[in-house]
Amino acid sequence: MTDFMTPKQRHRCMSRVRGRDTTPEIFIRKMLWAAGFRYRLKSKLPGKPDIVLKKHRAVIFVNGCFWHSHAGCPKSKLPTTRKEFWANKIAANVERDQRNIADLKKKGWRVAVVWECSIKNQESKKATVLSLFLSGGVRPSQVVDNPFN
Ligand SMILES: [Zn+2]
Repeated sequence: MTDFMTPKQRHRCMSRVRGRDTTPEIFIRKMLWAAGFRYRLKSKLPGKPDIVLKKHRAVIFVNGCFWHSHAGCPKSKLPTTRKEFWANKIAANVERDQRNIADLKKKGWRVAVVWECSIKNQESKKATVLSLFLSGGVRPSQVVDNPFN
């Protein structure tokens, strides 16, 4: 992150820092803001959810398909080299995700998982479903989308 980078280059570089301010997350944030939802970003809750809507007792994880192993999704395919290394790493991520979500639910939070690929494919649908979820219109299980299962 040096000064000779153009803002665009720097942005691209920052985007690679995993877990924060990735493009899909920014999309969801803008969408929520436009729909009138107010949220917090920094969170000490289990799993550090990307977006926390305290008023709605809801959290949103914006998950990268590869890192969080979106079941059946082409983008979750493991690299052919060092396959075992990646399999172990991703399996640990998935286990941690499950533990965190269970923890959050136990504490009374509603949890939505938005997969990166689903944002690219169906933006308007996602916006509607998320709004409904946050206002209590649908059950969380209807939001945790997994078009491949
Ligand atoms: Zn996916």
